[in-house]
Amino acid sequence: MRNPLIDPFARAITYLRISVTDRCDFRCVYCMSENMTFLPKRDLLTLEELDRLCSSFIDLGVQKLRVTGGEPLVRRDIMSFFQGMKRHLDSGALKELTLTTNGSQLHRFAEDLFRAGVRRINISIDTLNEEKFAKITRWGKLENVLRGIDAALAVGLKVKLNTVALKDFNENELFDLAEFCARRNMDLTFIEVMPMGDLGQEDRVGQYWALSDLQTQLASRYTLTNLPDRTGGPARYIKLEETGQRVGLITPLTHNFCESCNRVRVTCTGEIFTCLGQEGSADLRGPLRSSEGNKILENAIRGAISSKPRGHDFDYSRGNEGGKMTRHMSHTGG
Ligand code: SAM
Ligand code: SF4
Repeated sequence: MRNPLIDPFARAITYLRISVTDRCDFRCVYCMSENMTFLPKRDLLTLEELDRLCSSFIDLGVQKLRVTGGEPLVRRDIMSFFQGMKRHLDSGALKELTLTTNGSQLHRFAEDLFRAGVRRINISIDTLNEEKFAKITRWGKLENVLRGIDAALAVGLKVKLNTVALKDFNENELFDLAEFCARRNMDLTFIEVMPMGDLGQEDRVGQYWALSDLQTQLASRYTLTNLPDRTGGPARYIKLEETGQRVGLITPLTHNFCESCNRVRVTCTGEIFTCLGQEGSADLRGPLRSSEGNKILENAIRGAISSKPRGHDFDYSRGNEGGKMTRHMSHTGG
């Protein structure tokens, strides 16, 4: 490997989250408005360009690649991208290839993902109640996602559920979700709702359920042990002693996780965001398309990393969406 990617705060960048589409078959209320306008297809990186881009990052020291979106599994032929990335797992340059999915299409793809070298996946699910599921996702069907979870477990994928903690919505399902996961040997991570993108009617400050409160509720039933595990991201982990299960808490709003940040995000149009919580971005599509060689692209990647900000400014403490981002989570990739 050549000179690795080190940012101005001496953080090594080893983790890339790549959004492969901005489209989705759900319209989760905290993520998208019902009538989202999507990007023209010609603006999206082709699958070949996504391969070149990710391969360049891997060449520069990225060891973990998470594929996200929008919904990654609605992108046509996305399995060929995963199959292509397998060569980096085989060579040892890439340590982990993974994805975050809403699970709706997973029953079709679980086996192919495993064959492409994926071993762990994150599935987002906020409720186990069919009607509530239809309400929060607007277009989703819970039974498809449950089928996807079963398919993933059946082929041997390790599954983690991601749940956005929403006040007055899934507060009363805390124990059901924990037990659902414990029975299937799945980890569970709760995410605080973040101020990403304008949604019209929705009120995120009202939806905000602080994970410190969630943890207090968990402690009323389980013995909790703080775990030292860190992944360089916003999650911290606790163990439920009674089930042995690991529960992650992603708390960008109540904790600052930026000093150990090891990641960058690239959108499906090749825009690089070096911080989830700052507006600044740089274009990689132009450099990618300007030459068949990778020199210009690599310089652009290094340039972007050299201005990675220290951290985010999210803040709800004044009763408004402080530090709010104009872009949606589905744009940057969650
Ligand atoms: N469609 C896939 C899924 O839902 O897993 C991948 C993309 S989605 C944008 C990634 C994650 O971001 C999901 O777990 C979703 O719940 C989360 N997310 C979306 N909008 C959010 C917001 N405003 N605050 C917190 N998490 C959000
Ligand atoms: Fe789609 Fe994921 Fe956003 Fe829900 S959270 S609308 S599934 S991209």
